[in-house]
Amino acid sequence: MKVTFIGMGVMGSAMATNLLNNGVDLTIWNRTKEKVESLINKGALYKESPHEAVKEADIVFTMLTGPEAVDEVALSENGFLQSMKRGALWIDSSTVNPSFSKKATQLARNVGVRFVDAPVAGSKGPAQKGELVFLVGGEKPDIEQVEDFLQYMGKKIIHVGPVSQGSSFKMVVNMMLASNMAAFAESMILGEQLGLSKDFLLETLAGMPVSAPFLRMKADKLKVQNDEQEFALKNMQKDLHLATLSAYEENAALKITNLMKEVYADAKVNGYGDLDFSSIYSFYKNLHRMEE
Ligand code: NAP
Repeated sequence: MKVTFIGMGVMGSAMATNLLNNGVDLTIWNRTKEKVESLINKGALYKESPHEAVKEADIVFTMLTGPEAVDEVALSENGFLQSMKRGALWIDSSTVNPSFSKKATQLARNVGVRFVDAPVAGSKGPAQKGELVFLVGGEKPDIEQVEDFLQYMGKKIIHVGPVSQGSSFKMVVNMMLASNMAAFAESMILGEQLGLSKDFLLETLAGMPVSAPFLRMKADKLKVQNDEQEFALKNMQKDLHLATLSAYEENAALKITNLMKEVYADAKVNGYGDLDFSSIYSFYKNLHRMEE
């Protein structure tokens, strides 16, 4: 079976590497060609355009920044959808809004292509270790066809429901992720201002039932002031934007998430966009002009 992977960013390159490590016949494309060298050395076939990359494929994965990127690469007038084989399957693992996944399904259907939305939970480390969790929306037979490939890249596949519901669930998961991280950072800042030591807070607060489990890992990063990107803060703000857009479309009110979106937007415009989203702590700290 011929597989194509499009988008060799932080996540895509790690996921494609795991496909190659499991012997998959893989063709790849990325907008910035310089990023694909190590994958070519591992046996991936690089094509010069998305069209060239998908035309022989039975299965196409995309892992791109968000709806605008997927739109440009796949759905637009010059998008690769027109070049896919009839009956082929497209799995979009990019985090996009559910209404976008529905649009992609319809446009794919128009050219005889099947569509599955399969965004992921888990960051750079899990992607490298093949331990992602896939949140999948789609038809059961389509998911069964790609199950082996998903297992090469992940440790768990959650079939959430019909197409677009993987994206729906991903919106919900990232709302929690963003709010928990910001609440933890803000609690840390006040604690430190009240005279509690940073080390005490990181070790104790992050282990208490009030903290989400992922905060233990983020606490290790904060301890050594490591803001290196695992999940870019600008992409977290993008996901909050997509969640609020989805709420607007569904006539729902998202008060906390709208506030969070602006908190992360503020950090982004102040230069934290390319750092990890846990750098919201450093952003707050600088805002309060606190010494390390
Ligand atoms: P990333 O490192 O920024 O990679 C983004 C990819 O999209 C790159 O390959 C980039 O190409 C490509 N791209 C963006 N705009 C494009 C355009 N207009 N045309 C063509 N290609 C375009 O992001 P990432 O961290 O891998 O994240 C990818 C997706 O996974 C996002 O939807 C993100 O929200 C989601 N996600 C990320 C994490 C995480 O922890 N990192 C976890 C779960 C989900 P270039 O290389 O040319 O820039």
